[in-house]
Amino acid sequence: MTRLVNDPVEFSAELVDGFIQANTRYVRPVYGGVVRSTETKPGKVAIVTGGGLGHYPGFMGWVGPGLVDGAVTGKVFASPAASQVHSVAKAADHGGGILLAYLNYAGDMEETDKRRGIAGGLAVLKVTSAAAEAGMTLDQVTAVCQRANDRTRTCGIAFSGCTLPGADEPLFEVTEGKMAVGLGVHGEPGIYETDLGTADDVAQLLVDTLMNEVPQGAGTRVVAMLNGLGSAKYEELFVTFTSVTSKLRDAGLDVVDGQVGEFMTSLDMGGLSLTLMWLDDDLETLWFAPCDSAAYSRPALQDPPLDASVTFNTEPEPLTVQQEGSASSRAAAALIADALERVRDVLNANESMLGDLDAVAGDGDHGAGMARGSTAAAQAARELVAEGAGAQTTLAGAGARWTEHSGGASGALWGAALTAAGNSLGDDRDVDNAAAVAAVQAFVDSVITLGKANVGDKTIVDALVPFTQAFGTAVESSGDVSQAWQTAAAASEEAAAGTEALVPRMGRARVLGERSVGSPDPGAVSFAMAAKAAGVATD
Ligand code: ADP
Ligand code: MG
Repeated sequence: MTRLVNDPVEFSAELVDGFIQANTRYVRPVYGGVVRSTETKPGKVAIVTGGGLGHYPGFMGWVGPGLVDGAVTGKVFASPAASQVHSVAKAADHGGGILLAYLNYAGDMEETDKRRGIAGGLAVLKVTSAAAEAGMTLDQVTAVCQRANDRTRTCGIAFSGCTLPGADEPLFEVTEGKMAVGLGVHGEPGIYETDLGTADDVAQLLVDTLMNEVPQGAGTRVVAMLNGLGSAKYEELFVTFTSVTSKLRDAGLDVVDGQVGEFMTSLDMGGLSLTLMWLDDDLETLWFAPCDSAAYSRPALQDPPLDASVTFNTEPEPLTVQQEGSASSRAAAALIADALERVRDVLNANESMLGDLDAVAGDGDHGAGMARGSTAAAQAARELVAEGAGAQTTLAGAGARWTEHSGGASGALWGAALTAAGNSLGDDRDVDNAAAVAAVQAFVDSVITLGKANVGDKTIVDALVPFTQAFGTAVESSGDVSQAWQTAAAASEEAAAGTEALVPRMGRARVLGERSVGSPDPGAVSFAMAAKAAGVATD
C-alpha cells in the first residue's frame, strides 16, 4: 500500500524530483532521467541503465563514480520512451561510446537470455561499470557485461503482491501462507505457488533452484546477494542469509562476498530474491573496485584486513566450579537448582501473559525476556550443581546466564540480584535460617541499588520489599523457612496485584505511565509468580 501520494498522476515525477533534491552530490536532472553530477574522465565508456520506477534503489540510485553514468527513469512500472533514453544517453556520453544495459521484464523464465533478472542487474552493472571506469574500450566493456550476465543467476519469491500508487487493489495476490516462486519485478506472478515454510526452507528452495542452473565451467567463487523486494525486513533477510551461506558452502561454493539488503524492489512487494554471480579473477577484481552512488557504495577499505590468525571469543565465558562447595552449601545449591527449574516452568507458561502486561505501557518483551533468562539460569544451575558447586557459584552462574539471555531492564536486575544472593550465601558456609533471610535481603538490596526504584514507583521493588519483610518476620516467628517463604510469596502476590493502582515512575513504562493504571507492573507480577513457584517444593 502506498499511503503518501499527492496526485497519483504526478507520483513518478515527484519521486524523481525528491530523489534529485536529496542527492545533488551524485545526480543532475536531464530530460528523461538523471546523469552524474561529478566530472568523468574524457573517453570513458558510458554505462546507461534504466527501466520503470518503483524499484528503488534500482537504476537512479546507482548513478555515480564507479557505477553507472546515467539512468533513464520512466514512470512507475512503465518503461521510458526512446526519446528519453536518447536524451539521457547523450548527456552521459564522454566520447568513449555508450553501453545501454537494462533488464528484461517480459519473457519466458526458462530461456536464460530472456530471464527477467532482479537484483542480478546490479551485480552485472557493478562489474560492467568498473570495467568502464578502468578504461576498457566499448567492446571490452560489452564483453565483461556479457560474461557477467552469463555467470549470474537469480531466483525470487514473493509472499505478497504490490500496489500501484493510487490503486486500491494489489497487482497480484499470493495466497496466505504460500509463496510465489520465480516472480517478476513488475508484479508478474510467479511460475508456481508453494507453501511458505521457514526462513531455512526458503533458503533451501532458492539455493536448490540456483544450483540446478550453475553456469558451465563457472568455478566455485561467488558473490551472493539477498535482496528484499520492498517489504521484507532486513532482520528477516539476515536470518535467511545465514541459511543461504551455509547451504552454499555445503554445495561446495566459496562465498567471496555477501550483500544483504534492498537493491531492486517492487514497490511494497513482500518477498526476496537470491542472486549468485560466479566470479573469475577479472570479475572478482571488478566486483571489489570502489564505487559510490546514492544507493550503492563500496569504498576502498582504508585499513588492511585483520590477519586471519587474530581470533575472538564468540561464546560466553564458560561457567566453572573453582572449588567444591561445603556439604551444606551444595545441599542449598541443589534446592536452588530445583527452585530455578520451577521458576523457569512458571515463567515460560506465563510468557504471553507477561508480554501482554508489558505491552500496556512498555515494549511487550517482558514475558519473552523472563522465559529466556530463567531457562538459561536453570540450565546453568543444574550443570554447576552437577559439578559440585556451592550456593554462591550456582547463583552467580545462574545470574550471569539470566542477564545474558534475557536482556532488558529486568534481565539486568534479576542477574545482579541472584548473584548478590549467592555472594551472601557463600560456597562454604552453613546455610541456616539467618543465612536464608540475609540472602533474600541481599537480593532486594541489589535490585534497589542497581535500579534506584522506591516502593510505589510501580516496579519489581513493589513486590520484592513486602516479600522480604514478610519472610524475615515469618522466619523469626516460626523458624520454618519453607512456611515463611509461602507466607512471603502470598504477600508479594498481593502487593504485585496492588501495583495496578499505581503510575510507573521508573523504567520504560514511565513514559506512557497513565496508560498502565488499572493493570499491574509486569516485573512485580513475574517476581511474585516466580517466588511462589520457587517455594512450592520446600513444603
Ligand atoms: P525493559 O523495560 O528493558 O523492556 P522488561 O520488560 O523485561 O525490561 O522489564 C520491565 C520491568 O522491569 C518493569 O515492569 C519493572 O518491574 C522492572 N524495572 C524496570 N526498570 C526498573 C528499575 N529501575 N528498578 C526496578 N525495576 C525496574
Ligand atoms: Mg519490556
